[in-house]
Amino acid sequence: MMNQALDILKRYFGYSQFRKGQNKVIHSLLQSVDTVAIMPTGAGKSLSYQIPALLFEGVTLVISPLISLMKDQVDSLHDAGVSATFINSSLSMNEAWERINKARKGEYKLLYVAPERLEAESFLSLLESLSISFVAVDEAHCVSQWGHDFRPSYRKIGTFVESLPHRPILGAFTATATEEVKEDIVHLLKLENPQVFITGFDRPNLKFSTLKGENKKFFISDYCLQHRNESGIIYAATRKEVDQLQTYLKGKGFLVGKYHAGMSDLDRQKSQEAFLFDKTPLIVATNAFGMGIDKSNVRFVIHYNMPKNMEAYYQEAGRAGRDGEPANCILLFSPQDVVLQRYLIDNNIFNPERKVNEHKKLQDMADYCHTARCLRKEILEYFGETDIPEECGNCSNCTDDRDIVDITLDTQKILSCVLRMRERFGVNLVAEVLKGSGNKKLMELRLNQLSTYGLMSERTIQEIKDQINYLIAEDYLQLSTGEYPVVKCGRKAVLVLKGNEQVFQKVLRKA
Ligand code: ADP
Ligand code: ZN
Repeated sequence: MMNQALDILKRYFGYSQFRKGQNKVIHSLLQSVDTVAIMPTGAGKSLSYQIPALLFEGVTLVISPLISLMKDQVDSLHDAGVSATFINSSLSMNEAWERINKARKGEYKLLYVAPERLEAESFLSLLESLSISFVAVDEAHCVSQWGHDFRPSYRKIGTFVESLPHRPILGAFTATATEEVKEDIVHLLKLENPQVFITGFDRPNLKFSTLKGENKKFFISDYCLQHRNESGIIYAATRKEVDQLQTYLKGKGFLVGKYHAGMSDLDRQKSQEAFLFDKTPLIVATNAFGMGIDKSNVRFVIHYNMPKNMEAYYQEAGRAGRDGEPANCILLFSPQDVVLQRYLIDNNIFNPERKVNEHKKLQDMADYCHTARCLRKEILEYFGETDIPEECGNCSNCTDDRDIVDITLDTQKILSCVLRMRERFGVNLVAEVLKGSGNKKLMELRLNQLSTYGLMSERTIQEIKDQINYLIAEDYLQLSTGEYPVVKCGRKAVLVLKGNEQVFQKVLRKA
């Protein structure tokens, strides 16, 4: 079967080989297994259902949420010589009926329908007369309220499939990989023992870096100076910061635009075009910038602030290097970023469950900034990929030649202090106790009487805090979620306290 699939790939679509993810997904579908394919945008989802559709008997129903997208897909299938059509609200009932009739006669291999069609009984009974062997649900995350664009009519798909005289194979396709969305897809679409594939997230040409404790403005102007003639995006968290940073860079003589939701439509459009056509090769922007931006030669994306979660980060950073040439994704981290994001979550109207979830994602993002492990591995694991090498050799942690230092003793000091403090206080206070500071709150709580008080007095508060954050990122400690996160022992704490595990950290070589 895979040989036939490859034949079709060559003959109809003109490509010589499958991409890594496509292979597995197509193979699974051809084995008649319900399949969930989680692949980022651009990884080649469409072919992953179009090719099986051509190999199955009968017709394939593709459920797709956007009318414009449907038409594009059908047009490009026609260009490839594949018979396909769509049915959505842009057609009259007569036209729809005509197309169904043709489908019944076997004139189409693929029939694209909008999910809302499944709400009309009359339409459903028409569909029942077709011999549908495969139902491909595009943008399957729309079935989930956790996803970013929930579509109630996606909830009809499961029962619709059940109502068919012969149950077709189901394939669900999306770029959203979070656990909640994945579970919703499996349950709400009523998939049967599905195989789930998460692939294609790696972007080997992107070099990821995290930097802490830099003078951010200076770093950026220096970077831009050293990379003159390159196009880059600088993301900042707030409109005010965008304004300030752009003014600063302009003052340094750079051709730099800006983009945020506080600007007029016209100004934003002008900025966007100036950037797209390289009149201003640099742009400072909030996360409002990027929807639908497809500029291939962006050589770097710098984050002036840490975004709220890994999904947002990877999407924004991923705008670099679309042309496949090397590009840099640099995240400048400061602890203030976490404070700001935490504030934004707490003051949002999310329900309590959602808040906990957002706090957890924020912590994962902060961990990414603190970890000493391979950043690429960290990202790919976050999105659920497996079998990732320990080191990619192309991220700031892999190429980091700083010394590796044994920090087991310090880790034990910190862990026992956290325990003595009964896992009830935040990073700051734990650091103050270890430092042995005369902080008023600390004194009032009589924390100066703990045996761990002043255990790390030779260090600065900032050094101790950095160390605690590192231990959080590495699961020796953990932060509770909520408005006032407290430090608790993490998954790997016991091992260290029992003396069964050594802890290492890369540190700057002292001059
Ligand atoms: P997605 O739906 O995942 O965003 P598409 O299906 O639109 O991605 O594919 C993105 C691009 O990759 C398209 O231009 C497509 O023609 C191309 N593509 C898909 N599969 C292959 C392949 N095996 N070899 C080369 N190019 C491919
Ligand atoms: Zn790496």
